[in-house]
Formats: sequence, C-alpha cells, structure tokens
Amino acid sequence: MPTIPTVTLNDGIAFPELGLGTYGLRGAEGVESIVAAIDAGYRLLDTAVNYENEREVGDAVRAASVDRDELLVTTKIPGRHHGYDDAIESTNGSLAVMGLDWIDLSLIHWPNPSVDKYVDTWRAMIDLRERQLLRSIGVSNFTEAMLTRLIDETGVTPAVNQVELHPYFPQTELRAFHAEHGIRTESWSPLARRSELLQEQVLQELAEIYGVTPTQIVLRWHVQLGSTPIPKSADPDRQRENADVFGFALTDDEVGVISGLERGRLWGAHPDTHEEM
Ligand code: NAP
Repeated sequence: MPTIPTVTLNDGIAFPELGLGTYGLRGAEGVESIVAAIDAGYRLLDTAVNYENEREVGDAVRAASVDRDELLVTTKIPGRHHGYDDAIESTNGSLAVMGLDWIDLSLIHWPNPSVDKYVDTWRAMIDLRERQLLRSIGVSNFTEAMLTRLIDETGVTPAVNQVELHPYFPQTELRAFHAEHGIRTESWSPLARRSELLQEQVLQELAEIYGVTPTQIVLRWHVQLGSTPIPKSADPDRQRENADVFGFALTDDEVGVISGLERGRLWGAHPDTHEEM
C-alpha cells in the first residue's frame, strides 16, 4: 500500500497530495467503495452537503481500519446555507449527519456573488475553527478577486481553494496567485471526468515511456503542479491505480507539454456567473 505524501497548509495542518472524490458514491456500495479507498491508502475524503452522501462518508470513517484522526474529511457549505447563522447551522448539520466530532476541512462550495454573503459565511467558519469544530477552512471556485476580498475583509487567508483543474484547464494564473498567498490548490474533476482527455496522444506516449497509465500521467501532472487532485473512482483497482503516482516523476518539459492541452473550462462554470444553491 503506497503512502500518499502530505504538504503543510498555511494553518500548519498536514494535507495529502492526493485524495478521493466521492460525488456519486452513495448507499451501501458507496460506503464499501470509500472503505476500499482508505484500505488503498487514501486519507483525504471529499464530500459536500449537496452530494447527499455525508452519511456514507461518516459510515466509511467508522468502518475503516485506520483511526479517525488519520483521516481528513472535507465537506462544503452549499449556497443556500450562506450567511453567518446559516453556515453555523449547516456545519452542525454536517457533523450530525456524518456522526463526527469535527470536520477536517470545510469549504464554501461556490461563492454565489449575486447573493453576496460569502464574507459572512467565512466569518462563521473562522469562529467554528476557533471552537475546533473545523480544523482547516477554505473555499471552492473562488477567483483572485474573491480571495482578495476575503483576505482584506477578515485578515484570514483560506488554506485551500478547490477549483476545476485538469490538463484542458490548468489554471496557470490562479495557481500563481495561490502560491503567492500560501493557498493550497486542490483540483476537482482532475481527470476531466474521463472525457476524451485520457485518449490524448501525448498522454498515451508518456504512459508508454514511464510504464504507467494515461490516468497516472495526468494525476502525476497535478502533483507536480503543486495541486492536490481528488479523483473519484468507485472501483478498488482504479482507486489503487490513481493513488500510485508517487514512484515516478515527469520532467518540467513534459509537465509543460501536458499543460499545452489547455482549451478552457469544460462545463462553462465561471464563478462570476455560475451559482449553485
Ligand atoms: P473525475 O475524478 O475527474 O473523474 C471521475 C470519472 O473517472 C468517473 O467516471 C470514474 O469512473 C473515472 N475514473 C476514475 N479513475 C479512473 C481510471 N483510473 N481509469 C479510467 N477511469 C477512471 O471527476 P469528478 O468526480 O467530477 O471530480 C472528482 C471529485 O471532485 C468529485 O467526486 C467531487 O468530490 C469533487 N468535485 C468538486 C466540485 C466543486 O465544485 N468543488 C465540482 C465537481 C467535482 P469509476 O468510478 O467507474 O472508476
């Protein structure tokens, strides 16, 4: 079983360089898949109120063969729970549904700028971290301008910004901003949801050279960009394949060639206009 290395977040917490996406993992089969991933070495589990599988994630944490404090559970506050009081209530609800005493990383799922409550939501998260109900606090789908506003108005920099990131959308400018401010980048849909990405010739060729799969080339690319990918797989074999990317390294040129596949957001979800409740 490979050990997934960690990096240190701006709040001092050790954070895995790769985690498990859980969107769509539900019911008894979902719990089984999440437990299989933990058995395969995954320690970071990514859920959200809106995935309607927080219960399954909590059950998997209890069923796992490792201690609770070795696992990092991420959940996300949905748009309909924005605002100070609602964010507190949302967090209490997530803790109750998961049956956990604390959440390792809580994220604002989408900024929803027309609602204009993400700063108040953030203030609640700062207080929840103070009360040790949240270990780390971060955001998802935030732009540079939104991050700057949070930092300027509260003095607290998010530990993580989880954003759409894959070779078709490498987020070069946002990653540079994160690096400048000590924000860890996390990649959602790191495999571009198994679109035609995995058939790209350059990935096929690199897979041949390194004796790995195109998926492993993509996940290694994320690691070398300094972003934590959270590939979702229900299948134990594919979960093991996805986690096994710490035994080889791409050259800087190869990383650059993969980033050259850029074509933009795949699902048109720009945080300035796309809102989710
Ligand atoms: P993804 O991880 O890029 O791709 C998942 C798809 O790839 C599934 O169909 C999976 O099928 C397949 N797959 C996984 N490993 C594979 C392998 N080794 N070979 C071939 N196919 C493979 O997409 P995602 O689920 O959209 O994103 C990952 C996670 O990011 C989500 O689960 C969620 O936790 C998070 N997310 C967050 C946001 C946000 O707004 N913050 C948005 C979207 C997603 P199998 O299960 O059959 O293996």
